[in-house]
Amino acid sequence: MPELPEVEVTRRGIAPHLVGHTIDTVTVRDARLRWPIPDTVRAIAGRAVRAVNRRGKYLLLDCGDGHLIVHLGMSGSLRLVAAGTPPEKHDHFDLGFDGKLLRLRDPRRFGAVLWTSQPPEAHPLIRHLGVEPLSRGLDGPRLHALTRGHRAAIKQYLMDGRRIVGVGNIYASESLFLAAIHPRTPAGRLSATRSALLAKAVKSTLRTAIRAGGSSLRDFVGSDGVYGCFQHRAWVYDREGQKCRRCGTLVRRIVQGQRATYFCPGCQK
Ligand SMILES: [Zn+2]
Repeated sequence: MPELPEVEVTRRGIAPHLVGHTIDTVTVRDARLRWPIPDTVRAIAGRAVRAVNRRGKYLLLDCGDGHLIVHLGMSGSLRLVAAGTPPEKHDHFDLGFDGKLLRLRDPRRFGAVLWTSQPPEAHPLIRHLGVEPLSRGLDGPRLHALTRGHRAAIKQYLMDGRRIVGVGNIYASESLFLAAIHPRTPAGRLSATRSALLAKAVKSTLRTAIRAGGSSLRDFVGSDGVYGCFQHRAWVYDREGQKCRRCGTLVRRIVQGQRATYFCPGCQK
């Protein structure tokens, strides 16, 4: 599943091609995504893209008086191809501009393409999203304040998109390792010092993944067609029974909220 780093890599990959260019054509080959692609998306034709922004895992093509909202779902990817490139089986949507196509491929069809003429932060899919982890809105004092009174395990707290948006399973395990925090620690029990360490770890983990070109088990192909390699460098993720790269203790796997968590019992107390 494309996670925040993959979406950010996609944003950075497509933005220089799109910004300042006018969309000429909108092609919907199969509208049956997570929600049917509405006819209103055709409003983008004739409009110039001013910016490509991101909120959580939503890409927002800013056209001034409206935004195209794109979500990659479970298996979506965006790539740039030359106009006239024949579509393949799962290529459901294209935007045409300047002899190029921005093409959405989504085999499992859990993605979304929507149009809004309201400010995107007011959109029902976006307005309840939590703090952006890479923004200044997340730092030690803020994380400490946010977690007060929360009894959920910190691993699950990190993955709750209503609190903090876009920290997926891999990144939650890796961040807790870097901050030396046991994943079962109740969120509300984290000290100010450890909150600061964790906020820093979340940012550095996501930034490392973005630098690596995003990470994915199989489905993500970046806009340049490059597979990410982040997970091959993981400290603990998917390393059950292997030696901790820091202390040599065997990495353990537990299940929290039906998701696997990996941690080092030696490093994370
Ligand atoms: Zn260790």
